[in-house]
Amino acid sequence: MPERNNWQLGRDMTYPYDAPLPQKQVAYVFDINKCIDCQTCSVACKNAWTSGKGEEYAFWNNVETKPYGGYPIGWDLKLMEKAELAKWKDGKLESKTIFEDRSPLESPLGHMPDTMDYSAPNLGEDELSQAVGQGEHFNGLHPMWMFYLARICNHCTLPACVAACPRQAVYKRDEDGIVLIDQERCRGYQECVKACPYKKAFYNLISRTSEKCIGCYPRVEQGEVALCVESCIGKIRLHGFLSTQEEPRADNPLDYLVKIKKVALPLYPQFGTSPNVYYIPPVHVPNAFLEQMFGPSVLQAKAMYQSLKDDKQMLGAMMLFGANIRIIDKFKVEGDEVIGWDAKGTEVARVPFTEPTYVREHYDAKHKVYRHNTT
Ligand code: SF4
Ligand code: SF4
Ligand code: SF4
Repeated sequence: MPERNNWQLGRDMTYPYDAPLPQKQVAYVFDINKCIDCQTCSVACKNAWTSGKGEEYAFWNNVETKPYGGYPIGWDLKLMEKAELAKWKDGKLESKTIFEDRSPLESPLGHMPDTMDYSAPNLGEDELSQAVGQGEHFNGLHPMWMFYLARICNHCTLPACVAACPRQAVYKRDEDGIVLIDQERCRGYQECVKACPYKKAFYNLISRTSEKCIGCYPRVEQGEVALCVESCIGKIRLHGFLSTQEEPRADNPLDYLVKIKKVALPLYPQFGTSPNVYYIPPVHVPNAFLEQMFGPSVLQAKAMYQSLKDDKQMLGAMMLFGANIRIIDKFKVEGDEVIGWDAKGTEVARVPFTEPTYVREHYDAKHKVYRHNTT
């Protein structure tokens, strides 16, 4: 079986599908610290892409509350029960990925969710990590925690769905690394549903084919960010490309945050698919929980995030989240502003570090009305 380098694991690994790396790799950074669970992203995607028959239960974008939430229910726990516990040493994964220790005829290690696992997309929403006793109140110490985890397909560099499909109906585009399912070729065997460790391939009972997040490719082809990114109320998302065929570029905001500053980390890298949604870990959550979710670099990523106030370059890159509908290819901090350019070199974002303050007059003399404090 072919050996592929997986930089997220610090080593080479077996991957049962021999295909070249794409020219560019679509990628996202999600700042978990800023997500407010408004679900605008889920609704934007649902309205645009999955409002058809048989797609009622499919949320290509979902937001779940950790530690108890999960859609489909227990998607990650069920795989972790089957797989070896992740073991890391000096940044290198020592345990096996879902592709390793499999015979050439076996699919990647996976599981098939039950139909009912999709029936409660928001189970566990807002539940804390431990019960709050009757009569307890906030007293300054806050031992309980939870956080919101927004999830879409990771458009993995080594996708399990591609490796598992016996009809080669699932493919990865060379021009941007987006992973798609050819609806003409798919026969509904659901091998992708079973193999995807993130459970981001869905079976449509009406069309009898499997479907998945299309990475908003019609928008990406026009140089625009995905709908779930554009609509994000908390501005927690940055969408762009990671350099794959060249060294990371310090002026590419995605390369800068993921590869250079390493402030954003992949979700469950131990599965081995090299996912391309990178999360800035929530600073209030215990490291032990985060380490099994985002790998061994959680401490450094948290420290890096907490050094933002002294790092204007990194802060500048973060201020481009949700700044424009265009995909930002290049950025630069100039004085008190950060500027972003699209792939054509057109300036598409200019964000000041300090927002100007405008004071509205209490009484609007021109229109003879009070504008506030009228009670
Ligand atoms: S997240 Fe799942 S569906 Fe998406 S590319 Fe990776 S393996 Fe395939
Ligand atoms: S990238 Fe597009 S298709 Fe995928 S989850 Fe976001 S809105 Fe939906
Ligand atoms: S729109 Fe943004 S802030 Fe709201 S739930 Fe989605 S990711 Fe979180």
